[in-house]
Amino acid sequence: MPQTATTLHRGEAERLKALLQYGVLDSPSDPSLNEIAALAAQITHAPYAYVGFLDANRLFFKSRVGFSEREQPREACACQYTIQDSQPLLIQDTAKESRFAAGAICLSEEIRCRSYMAVPLISPAGIVVGTLAVLSTEPGAFDQGDVPALEILARQIVTRLEYYISIRHQERTVRARQRIERALTVERNFVSAVLDTVSALVLVLDTAGRIVRFNPACERISGYSSAELVGRPFPEELFLDEERDRAHALFRSARSGAPTEPYEMHWVARDGKRHLIAWTATTLADAMGEVSFVITTGVDVTEQREAEAALRSSEARYRQLVEGSLGMVCTHDLEGNLLSINTHAAENLGYKPEELIGQSMYGHIQDDHKHGWDSYWRAMAEHGEDQGLLYLKKKDGSPCVIAFRNKLLNLPGTPPFVLGHGIDITEKTDAENKLHALMRQRESILESVGDGIYGMDMEGCILFVNRVGAHMLGFEPEELEGREIHPLIHHSRADGTPYPWEDCPIQKTRHRHTAIRVLDEVFWRKDGTYIPVEYVACPLVANGNITGVVVAFQDVTERRRLDRMKDEFISTVSHELRTPLTSLRAALGLIAGGKLDQRPEKAGQMFEVAMANCDRLVRLVNDILDFERISNDKLRLERTEINAVDLLRRVAELQHSSAQNAGLRVLVDAEPVELWVDNDRLVQTLTNLLSNAIKFSPPGSEIKLLARPLNESEALIEVRDEGRGIPAEKLDMIFERFQQVDASDSRDMGGTGLGLAICRSIVRQHGGRIWAESTVGKGSSFFLSLPRHVATAAVHDAIS
Ligand code: ADP
Repeated sequence: MPQTATTLHRGEAERLKALLQYGVLDSPSDPSLNEIAALAAQITHAPYAYVGFLDANRLFFKSRVGFSEREQPREACACQYTIQDSQPLLIQDTAKESRFAAGAICLSEEIRCRSYMAVPLISPAGIVVGTLAVLSTEPGAFDQGDVPALEILARQIVTRLEYYISIRHQERTVRARQRIERALTVERNFVSAVLDTVSALVLVLDTAGRIVRFNPACERISGYSSAELVGRPFPEELFLDEERDRAHALFRSARSGAPTEPYEMHWVARDGKRHLIAWTATTLADAMGEVSFVITTGVDVTEQREAEAALRSSEARYRQLVEGSLGMVCTHDLEGNLLSINTHAAENLGYKPEELIGQSMYGHIQDDHKHGWDSYWRAMAEHGEDQGLLYLKKKDGSPCVIAFRNKLLNLPGTPPFVLGHGIDITEKTDAENKLHALMRQRESILESVGDGIYGMDMEGCILFVNRVGAHMLGFEPEELEGREIHPLIHHSRADGTPYPWEDCPIQKTRHRHTAIRVLDEVFWRKDGTYIPVEYVACPLVANGNITGVVVAFQDVTERRRLDRMKDEFISTVSHELRTPLTSLRAALGLIAGGKLDQRPEKAGQMFEVAMANCDRLVRLVNDILDFERISNDKLRLERTEINAVDLLRRVAELQHSSAQNAGLRVLVDAEPVELWVDNDRLVQTLTNLLSNAIKFSPPGSEIKLLARPLNESEALIEVRDEGRGIPAEKLDMIFERFQQVDASDSRDMGGTGLGLAICRSIVRQHGGRIWAESTVGKGSSFFLSLPRHVATAAVHDAIS
């Protein structure tokens, strides 16, 4: 029955699928198929035979006899017809068939066959996959009677192909099993490695209670090896006597599949040491859901439990400590609400702890310190801690200052909170404030008194020194503090001989409770000079013990100088006063004695002597008072603008008669320079100088009063005489008090020796100078530099 294109197509597809299953296309030659092809050729006496398989385009020769070509185009082969018809096909002469264009079947260029006999290769499923064919170049070479033999051979071919399929299938199965076994081995090794490395104990028991696995962690803790225990029944020796029954019960319960809670149980190691293990048990069921193993895993919690116990006891102790603490221990949340506070701290503020807990701390801060709240939280956010002073209000409103150190804690399981420790320093702060006030008081007292004051410790080192004292000694206070004082300022006496520490009255004060006063010692300055001092040394007593010495000292240089001056002055003045008084007494004595009653002219002379001495005494006293007033700066200058010409003329007039009596001429030769001086004082000064000139000039000589500008600010006045002159070595000395060129000058000339000293004081107070130049026998000049009147000075200089 002719087949439709569709069935053909379906047959094609099925054949190709079958060929793929057999795996015969383009495969190496198969010896057993080659044998069958050879057998077919032998039976049929054919020179050529093959086993061929047809795919979409070609006929593939799986086995060949008599030729070497691998394949033949489909359209040129005769097998397509055998396969198509699914029946044996015998062609006696291809030349007589129109199906073969070449008139032959070409196995190669040279092999052109005229005879063809073939049987189809039919799979058990009825699919024709190929042919077993014999061919000959001769026509009519085959006989229909050989077809059954070929068919037998064809079935053998298909059987072999089927056998190959089943072999391949078997091979695949074996390979798959091997793969699974390899994977299983890897898995097992992996489990072993895990069990070997985990720190947890893994103990696997079978349902009989025999140990199946005892991992290295178990070995480590128990001291038993896996080899010793594996395969043995339930390891009783691992458990404490009193816990053994419980262990059995737990095992039985786990084996029954009942869910077990984690439990803790002791293991007794081989060395007798006990370990507390926290166990969990699970079961492993087989494919049938039957429990086959009990797997228990454990962790050694001995140390953890001990630590927990220690923690619990330390927590209890800590709680006790906090409660017993005399400081403040508190916690607050991140809103600033108090979470806890110890009783003492709460009571210190006047509350019970429960009154404060839950309250915002902000409300308890003193109003004028609330500004610190923000910076506190900033510090917490930035550094997680802060310390400083907390100014709280007590319940009664009184202030309380706490020195705190707070830390932000972020513990697992609890919201973050702040733990604070503090101590009440209110009293200390009060005391400190008082102390500071006292210290400030002490400092200001120390600095305001004129005396130098220093304190030293028992070793003789300076504890403190006031600025005045340090400066007296040429130091800054900082240079002295901490240094040994005696070798620094008290090492030698005034004459340079050493002053041993042992002899020093200051150090002796360390051992007696009374102050001492020393009047005549010296302290040495930084620059190597010394100052005469008076000092009082007083022991520094604290709690009845002497802890050092305080010394108050005065620089008595000036006082000594004044004393000396006073002594000198008194002796000089007494001497100066005694001379006229003696004369006065003598004159009056003579008169009073009545011896001169008969000689009135002599008595008159005595009266004159007495009068002259009286005058001299009055002058002396006046000069002394004047000098005292002027040299003690009691003089107030009343400056006015005075023209030098006017001034000198006036002085000349005042002394006119004296000069005339002495037979002298006084000339004024002055430039009209304006002076800025006290008129009366200048008249006094110049009168003194002119009267001296008159006194010491011979009659007929000339005295000149000169004035000229010296520079922009000064004028120079000169009183020049032609008198006896003054020796060069006395030129400076005559300006000192009671100093005269000749001891007789006072007596003969009626001077006091104070005139030039007074002149010098006045000129100095004007900011000027006075000096003398002289040639003995020729005359003297006294010069005064005096301030000019500033405004006019410039004008005058411009004109001249
Ligand atoms: P006195 O009151 O003794 O004059 P002064 O201090 O005025 O005291 O003078 C001191 C001494 O200076 C005089 O005693 C005299 O020896 C000397 N002296 C002063 N002026 C002259 C002068 N122009 N010529 C010489 N000697 C003078």
